[in-house]
Amino acid sequence: MSGLLEIDLDAIAHNWRLLDASHPGATGGVIKADAYGLGAAKVAPALFAARCRHFFVAHLEEAVAVRKLVPGALLGVLNGLRAGEAEVFAAHDITPVLGSMAELALWRETGRPAILHLDTGMSRLGFTAAEMVALGTDGLRLDYVMTHLVSADEPGNPRSAAQAAAFAAVTVHFPGVKRSLANSYGMFLGPGFHSDLARPGAALYGINPTPGRPNPMRDVVRLTAPILQIRELSPGETVGYNATWMARRPSRIAVLGVGYADGYHRALSNAATARFDGAPVPLVGRVSMDLTTFDVTDTHAETGDVLELLGPGHGADALALEAGTNGYEVLTALGRRYERRYIGG
Ligand SMILES: *Cc1c(COP(=O)(O)O)cnc(C)c1O
Repeated sequence: MSGLLEIDLDAIAHNWRLLDASHPGATGGVIKADAYGLGAAKVAPALFAARCRHFFVAHLEEAVAVRKLVPGALLGVLNGLRAGEAEVFAAHDITPVLGSMAELALWRETGRPAILHLDTGMSRLGFTAAEMVALGTDGLRLDYVMTHLVSADEPGNPRSAAQAAAFAAVTVHFPGVKRSLANSYGMFLGPGFHSDLARPGAALYGINPTPGRPNPMRDVVRLTAPILQIRELSPGETVGYNATWMARRPSRIAVLGVGYADGYHRALSNAATARFDGAPVPLVGRVSMDLTTFDVTDTHAETGDVLELLGPGHGADALALEAGTNGYEVLTALGRRYERRYIGG
């Protein structure tokens, strides 16, 4: 095993309760991409036990896999339905999020309820405002009408308020139908972004939904890996592929059996920091497929000790900053070679 990935299900449940308490409407749980890489088979029951009753995934197969774990809960498929899938949706009581007239036509004959997705600026999936207004409720059974925010992670961005207004202007044509608006970040944009159902994902998993402010969410993930060897380097010796780092003083280099094949991004080369006993240690040289090197000269680290690659105070958001990506990509990339240990649940 390349490392140990500890996932705190109690913290995920705590985060869901915190979000739910802040939101007057219902609060769902987005568990697409295997619950952002953390394991939907474990996360879904933990959220269900916390009384979450609305779940979202991206694909039908993901929904079928968790259906029995969340009995009676609404289970929505954000990417909608394709030809030939309607019967599978119906058989498993899974709800498609419909985003086009073609999808609607496929679903209509089942007579079952759906969620309609209004596109208010993402230009990916969803009906246009004109299509939705022309459609109206039109004999459809609708659980929700929803839209998705483009820039909710930029609290001052007027785009969010414009989207909320566009959503309101269309939903007046759907009297009595419940509305679903905010993702994690949207839940922190104020009362104008409350709705009958919020759809947080990232914040459940410890990503900060209030950028630039202290993270109100509890840490969920800790990733550690043992030191395989300590190399003693003299000044002038180099580390790793292409010799991108050179020792300027007598140095001690800790070698970990973690690399980009574990989702520890190559972009972290010469950029990341791990922790030894709480003290930051810099990544030096290139991240290789299965190995990574850290300068532990200023510590007492020895072979067999562990370095913490993700943990309290340096979570997915911090590593993402070092890798030039977002915390979502850090979590969903977490590899299959880590031993996974679940806490609580
Ligand atoms: C992924 C997704 C969410 C959850 O977003 P977070 O930023 O992770 O909270 C909500 N709604 C839709 C449509 C999504 O695709």
